[in-house]
Amino acid sequence: MVYLRRKILFFGNVINQLQQSIRWSSSLRTKDKNSVPQRFFKYADLSVRLAGPNQLNPKPDVNKLSFGKYFTDHMLKVHYYEGMNSWQAPEIMPFENIVLHPAAKVLHYAVELFEGMKAYRGVDGKIRLFRPELNMERMNNSAIRAGLPSFRGEELIKCICRLISIDQEWVPHSTASSLYIRPTLIGIDPTLGVATSDSALLYVILSPVGSYFKATDQQVGISLLADPRYTRAWPGGCGNAKLGSNYGPTIQVQQEAIEKGLQQVLWLYGENKELTEIGTMNIFVVYINNNGERELLTPPLNGLILPGVVRNSLLAISRQWNQYKVTERSITMKEIIQLNSDNRLLEIFGAGTACVVSPVSYIDFQGQELHIPTTEQPEAIYQMLKKRLLDIQYGIIPNHPWSLIIE
Ligand SMILES: *Cc1c(COP(=O)(O)O)cnc(C)c1O
Repeated sequence: MVYLRRKILFFGNVINQLQQSIRWSSSLRTKDKNSVPQRFFKYADLSVRLAGPNQLNPKPDVNKLSFGKYFTDHMLKVHYYEGMNSWQAPEIMPFENIVLHPAAKVLHYAVELFEGMKAYRGVDGKIRLFRPELNMERMNNSAIRAGLPSFRGEELIKCICRLISIDQEWVPHSTASSLYIRPTLIGIDPTLGVATSDSALLYVILSPVGSYFKATDQQVGISLLADPRYTRAWPGGCGNAKLGSNYGPTIQVQQEAIEKGLQQVLWLYGENKELTEIGTMNIFVVYINNNGERELLTPPLNGLILPGVVRNSLLAISRQWNQYKVTERSITMKEIIQLNSDNRLLEIFGAGTACVVSPVSYIDFQGQELHIPTTEQPEAIYQMLKKRLLDIQYGIIPNHPWSLIIE
């Protein structure tokens, strides 16, 4: 009976949504698009429809969380219709499938972008976001690059906080886990032209997650495949925006790494084989520079690099500590090989919201086996940075300016 009722509810929703999208697309044809000024959505207009008792899902065991497999009971949606007052009122509703016209632009031309943030349950029981305004800024930059509408970041943050507070029991009671937040923006115009989408859907879903890599990888480090035949981003491209179209084509290369017994791809660029990123993490290198000092290096934001929130934070922490030199410049495989053979290469690690800070122990580069001594350093910079980051995120440093506490 419950199953049947759910089915009926589901199909009721499907019909509603299809009717709505047909209504909008036919009214667009008759209206002058420029007659109504653009309007941003506001938290004040948010409506909330809570899941009924039989729509609530059991919470998974915190020790069995993998990445992005389970989702919470509610989601947030905001529609955009060009010319029709633009952004509509945001809505929180029970988690449900979304219904799209088969011609929807997202399905043909990958008109999609996303963000990745986390909510952390601190040691004081409070739930915190980490620098969410940076994710909003980046999401708006991605939207511009994708020809999708932008919005007021602070209004989306307030909506996300409300969504998390409704699903707060889904934020794991553990400092080894967190609630991953996936804001997504898609172009849903039901037309096949390769042109800007007049309608869009912004939605946010939440997924409790454990650590991205196994605990042992944190101790022994991860292994990388560096194959210069593949490239992730190029000048003038969109590698610096979190567009879904950047990630689909990486899956096959990642699979090649797995088949070789390696864990992630080290993305190289150009003739000089510059190191750009590790999988979906920004890359950091620690080495002894020509003056004999320890130096932390990461590639500059030159269009090939995704401007990570963690990248920005590790640079800021390092500059504030002022214990080692900090540089943003490109580094090539040739230089890495030379530094490594001179025993001046100390650490390589990846950094990002999903994987936090991940030490690298091995690189396979065109048949050369490079052993990187990251996890063998006595006072490893990656360890110090990881600890500081987690201390802020889990409230061990309780009132850090980078924390937004959800009341
Ligand atoms: C998301 C992402 C990162 C990390 O960004 P954070 O904001 O630190 O999570 C790094 N590289 C790529 C390619 C990414 O997609």
